Amino acid sequence: MRKFNKFLLSALLSALLVVGNAAALLTPVQADDVDKYKQQYDALQKDLERTNADLKKEQANVSSAEKLLAKLNEQMDLEQAQQKILVQKAQALAARVADAETRVKELSAKVDKTKQQVGETQQERFAKQAQIEQTTEQLRGRLRANYMAGSTNWLEVLFQADSLEAYLTRSELFDRIAAKDKSLIETFRSDADMLKNLEKNLIAAQESLVIEQSEADTAKRLLQTEQKAAQENLAQQRAKEAELQKNIADKEAQIKKLNENSAAFADAQRRYIAQMDAVDAELQKAIEEQRKAKEQAAAPTQPKPQNSPASNKPASSYGLIFPLHVGKGQYYISSGYGMRLHPIYKVNRLHSGVDIPMPTGTPVYAMAAGTVIFSRYGQGVGYCVVIDHGDSLYTRYAHSSQLLVSEGEYVQQDQKIMLVGNSGDSSGAHLHIEVLIGGIGQSDSVDPRKGYVPFP
Ligand SMILES: [Zn+2]
Repeated sequence: MRKFNKFLLSALLSALLVVGNAAALLTPVQADDVDKYKQQYDALQKDLERTNADLKKEQANVSSAEKLLAKLNEQMDLEQAQQKILVQKAQALAARVADAETRVKELSAKVDKTKQQVGETQQERFAKQAQIEQTTEQLRGRLRANYMAGSTNWLEVLFQADSLEAYLTRSELFDRIAAKDKSLIETFRSDADMLKNLEKNLIAAQESLVIEQSEADTAKRLLQTEQKAAQENLAQQRAKEAELQKNIADKEAQIKKLNENSAAFADAQRRYIAQMDAVDAELQKAIEEQRKAKEQAAAPTQPKPQNSPASNKPASSYGLIFPLHVGKGQYYISSGYGMRLHPIYKVNRLHSGVDIPMPTGTPVYAMAAGTVIFSRYGQGVGYCVVIDHGDSLYTRYAHSSQLLVSEGEYVQQDQKIMLVGNSGDSSGAHLHIEVLIGGIGQSDSVDPRKGYVPFP
């Protein structure tokens, strides 16, 4: 990043220096200025190419950072889905733990209740046993008393009718009481047996409840362990997501920075183009000055430019012919004259000519006779030819693959001057033609289709 800033600073500084130079260009043009402008232009072109490369690199960085960001966001989606599952799992486990706790409590209450029932039943059984013992004791006492009375009072009873009757009555009564005692004892015994059974069953139920409670408690502990693990997993997942979120924020900040860098490079690019246009205008002026000076020096022998058609092709009222040997329906215009968004630099610029797609190597012919004033590589136009036809009329042919004439050479109308190509700022083999009146700057261009060139 530091390296980039250092470079950008030096690029901007050199851009400022060139602005200074461009101001100096406004002084009258000297013949040797041509070389100076060419050097300036070449230097600017190098700067621009470097900036283009930097911009491309930075845009590639943006694109790869964006790809990484997209991947991070994708991963985030997966992690969030995973988190949702983990949250659901933790919630389900919490509910199950709560259920298990309730069950353990319920079982514990049942155990307590059963214990109490066992105690109560035991008490009842003890009471019945006490009653059995008491009734048995009473019966024993009665039997003993009856026997004693029987053995001592028997003769006395025989002689006393009343006594005998009383004895018999008492004996009868005794038998009835004894029978009742026996019955009572039987009932008590049966009750005690029943209670003992009940107690046994209750103890068995209590034991099984205790086992059930212990099992429920174990299950609860297992669930709690599982819940703890699930909560730990969830915490880890959240930490992972926080980390990922941080990575995403970092990546977004990086992309923002890279985009800022790209914007700075694009600005520098636009500035270079503007400066090159300014230098180019001065250069063209200087070339024209140089040419006029040479023309004046060799005025008597210089052949007069001919605008009258030298071929049998139809010429426009300006004396120009179509520069390709193709007829109607054998070509098309991919881009006309006018303002348009530059396809490469993405800035609004005047498209100062007409684009005709043609296969590389197709010959291009001079639209009229004249002196070649430009035949070399130029920024944007690639390999390019400019012909001065005299009377302030010029034609330009751009994006060639091969130039066939040299600067200073006089060419005839319909003379082969170059081959179609894809050089300079071009995205496919095509011929770019321009018609210029009054000078060879962009502002001198006219729409070739407005009567200047006879398009078949
Ligand atoms: Zn063009």
